[in-house]
Amino acid sequence: MIELREVNKYFGALHVLQDIDLTVGRGEVVVVIGPSGSGKSTLCRTINRLETIQSGAIAVDGRPLPEEGKELAQLRAEVGMVFQSFNLFAHRTVLANVMLAQQKVRKRGKQEAERRARELLERVGLADQADKYPAQLSGGQQQRVAIARALAMDPKVMLFDEPTSALDPEMINEVLEVMRQLAREGMTMVVVTHEMGFARYAANRVVFMADGRIVEDRSPEEFFTAPATERARDFLSKIL
Ligand code: ADP
Ligand code: MG
Repeated sequence: MIELREVNKYFGALHVLQDIDLTVGRGEVVVVIGPSGSGKSTLCRTINRLETIQSGAIAVDGRPLPEEGKELAQLRAEVGMVFQSFNLFAHRTVLANVMLAQQKVRKRGKQEAERRARELLERVGLADQADKYPAQLSGGQQQRVAIARALAMDPKVMLFDEPTSALDPEMINEVLEVMRQLAREGMTMVVVTHEMGFARYAANRVVFMADGRIVEDRSPEEFFTAPATERARDFLSKIL
């Protein structure tokens, strides 16, 4: 579903992604972990072309990433992204937040968009919050709205970049539970997270990055019980 081949990305002189090879199969959940500044966010952003690359190739569902225009808008709809900051439209209701892109990008009529939005709000446990504004919701609820909004595009892939890092501890689990549910339903997911419980029990693979490189790419069992590299051992000893 996602394939990166020898991807290199620079910010000026900074070589942020170095010869990245990564394949994510349909329905697979890959958790990306690693120290701050190792290129995790940049990796996610290249997959929906929020960042361009200098060399290498990226394909989603067997198609090379489009450069621009309609195809690029289509790609962005197919590759849903959820960030640490929820980025909801503050002056729109929860319902409208989940409807807008469906109407604009997917060209759905109002009724169909509303039906789908209500269905997704139900799925993330927020059916009763549809008429509120984002500021009236907790951080965990806002992040679940952001997930519903991404899902409303019927994505083939979902990218999560530290989706729980800005949340108070008691709200982390309600967001992770929505993500676990998505994983069980077979969504292809790339998840950057520091939640090691999620990595251990919901991921098919753990990718460990350091200094712009993929240092390890293995099953969670192998990674957590016997990391192969000193870098990973050192990282795990700091966070576990
Ligand atoms: P991570 O998500 O693992 O913390 P990032 O992908 O955000 O890492 O950043 C990787 C490196 O690229 C860091 O050194 C960061 O400072 C740098 N970087 C990220 N975005 C930009 C940008 N837009 N311009 C210049 N440097 C950037
Ligand atoms: Mg980051």
